Amino acid sequence: MTPSPSDKHAGDGAPAATGAPAADEPGLDQIPITGLKRVGPKLAERLDKLGIASVADLLFHLPARYQDRSRLRPLRELRDGDEALVEGVVTDAAIAQGRRRSLKVWLQDDTGGGLMLRFFHFSRAQMEGMRVGQRLRCFGEVRQGPQTLEMIHPEVQYQIADEPGAIGQGVAVDAPLTPIYPSTEGMQQITWRGLTDQALALLTAHPAALADLVPAAVAAPLGLPPLHEAIRTVHRPPAEAPVTALVERTHPACLRLAFDEMLAHQLALRRLRNQRRHLAAVPLAGDASLRRRLLASLPFALTGAQARVVDEIARDIGRPRPMMRLLQGDVGSGKTVVGALAALQAVECGRQVALMAPTELLAEQHRKSLSGWLAPLGIEVAWLSGRHKGAERAAVLARLASGAAPVIVGTHALFQQDVVFAGLGLVIIDEQHRFGVHQRMALREKGAGEGRLPHQLIMTATPIPRSLAMAVYADLDLSVIDELPPGRTPITTVAVPDSRRDEVIERVRRACAAGRQAYWVCTLVEESEALQAQAADDTAADLRERLQGLRIGLVHGRVKAAEREPVMAAFAAGELDLLVATTVIEVGVDVPNASLMIIENPERLGLAQLHQLRGRVGRGSVESYCVLLYHAPLTAAARERLDILRRETSGFAIADADLRMRGAGEVLGTRQAGMAAFRLADPLRDKDLVLAAQRGADRMLQDVSPAGTARITALIHRWLGGREDYGRV
Ligand code: ADP
Ligand code: MG
Repeated sequence: MTPSPSDKHAGDGAPAATGAPAADEPGLDQIPITGLKRVGPKLAERLDKLGIASVADLLFHLPARYQDRSRLRPLRELRDGDEALVEGVVTDAAIAQGRRRSLKVWLQDDTGGGLMLRFFHFSRAQMEGMRVGQRLRCFGEVRQGPQTLEMIHPEVQYQIADEPGAIGQGVAVDAPLTPIYPSTEGMQQITWRGLTDQALALLTAHPAALADLVPAAVAAPLGLPPLHEAIRTVHRPPAEAPVTALVERTHPACLRLAFDEMLAHQLALRRLRNQRRHLAAVPLAGDASLRRRLLASLPFALTGAQARVVDEIARDIGRPRPMMRLLQGDVGSGKTVVGALAALQAVECGRQVALMAPTELLAEQHRKSLSGWLAPLGIEVAWLSGRHKGAERAAVLARLASGAAPVIVGTHALFQQDVVFAGLGLVIIDEQHRFGVHQRMALREKGAGEGRLPHQLIMTATPIPRSLAMAVYADLDLSVIDELPPGRTPITTVAVPDSRRDEVIERVRRACAAGRQAYWVCTLVEESEALQAQAADDTAADLRERLQGLRIGLVHGRVKAAEREPVMAAFAAGELDLLVATTVIEVGVDVPNASLMIIENPERLGLAQLHQLRGRVGRGSVESYCVLLYHAPLTAAARERLDILRRETSGFAIADADLRMRGAGEVLGTRQAGMAAFRLADPLRDKDLVLAAQRGADRMLQDVSPAGTARITALIHRWLGGREDYGRV
């Protein structure tokens, strides 16, 4: 009788017997995590929440980063944000009273560099160990303090030999590279290391127990290490492994895993795409009558890029397969009119159109643009938001259900259960990254009557380089508006420390006196809408006092929509000079006369968001300015972000820079992009692997045997866990 996996690996937790794996050796994906030592029900539950149920799952829980304790760093070389092992002699130590009592210890090394250690909690024994003249070795994160670089609460090794360690050399200190695992509350790194130690022991005993799901024909030409070896290296880098390559994830072991991950993504997305080919949609060919009338009534001609994407969309929705298209275009590139033309094509065919925006403000603006264009053609634009209640809401719903309302604009209120369409032909979603996949799915189901799905157009101003887009949106077709309408004057961006706030306020006064309008955007790190609102309230009060004579409005998430609308309308009509707002104005708002944008504490925001905010100005023909009113001192990363923003005006260039700085996983984090993040692949950095993964996916999909199909499913599951659905459309 074969013992069950848990029998075999429970007890003293010794790894399975060594030697050649028996044919019936259970795969590591068959061994539950509870088969490891010290995994009780509570820990098992925590792991389960992270999608870790088997030993194989645990092996694919990869270190997020490493701590480099492999060499001593010269103090002179340290930068803000580094994590470093340093050694030096204490030159001074003092207790500072200040706002919070702290122990400050000055360290100097043999290169003459200095560093301050700072402790808020410290024992007498610790103080004793850090007296002047003592040699210390510390590990910690370097931060720019008010006076100098600091390490707050470093790990300190007190009793080290008086012989200085060789700085910069690979002295055998501590472990070579210490893996740091993505964790969850209540789980220490030491626990992760203990667990992965056990899993790796099992793997070493039976490398074949971890199935390599990538066919040799796909993996071999890459010349990368086999899967089991790659897994081992990434979890426990050997002492001789090149540190930088591992940290920057260019080591062959990292590349092998990155390849597998990208391959799994490609396969998941292509499956979705193939499934879509078998779905039906109502073809919306249209006779172009309404579109021609709209084009004739516009005060401008479409740009070449707009005309091209309009054409791509028109052909696509004319087919009996549901379109699933991503329309990318920088802020101000004119996506709305492209959406309006697609909408008219559906209306020409007697079908309904739903346009959804992530915020009420933006939905309001869309409703305004659309009714401005469509009302003269005799087409009513209905409107549904969270604040429609009772009889008013019922009336809108009735018009949708009967088909009397051909076009509706709204917020997520359009997703609600009782919203029923007579014949939904096209769904347009603006600024898709704010919508969850579930919402997209819910909306699609609304049109699923008669077994036919509506077409979907997703508009986004979050530009993604094409190579990356191909990797992460492989299930979508892509249209790009890569040109701005003519006559836009570029925005001049400057960064000013908030010690010069008075000058900035003066600048607002002058701009408004000259008949221009301005935005003042307040930001807060906290996600809390209440705190954000409070900050905006305070700023508005302050500015009203200091800018008497100016007409100042205020909008934030806490101002009721009913009160916000007149404020926005007044600003758009030029009846307000200055609009104080939170980041709610990030997307969509369009006031061409506004030519000055102040962003407070821009260091708290990401590049993409800053670029979106800045896009609120520069929409008319007057020269526009964006003032980044930062709070000093800036971290190195924040300084670089602001520099990029000053230098670059193109959303694509900014997205590129953003990716380089943050890595694709973060940019495409589930929250921002509605997409699963990559664990360690970086399609921008590993461009060649993207192509290889695409070819590999093609090849694997050609194998339609049950074994081939099962292999694909297993590979997708391995890397995306329960998330295969994430891109389902
Ligand atoms: P976004 O792509 O950021 O959503 P909008 O659709 O809001 O951009 O367009 C920004 C502004 O540009 C709007 O006022 C719109 O009417 C105008 N616009 C759009 N297309 C053109 C064009 N081809 N020529 C001139 N102005 C245009
Ligand atoms: Mg827009």
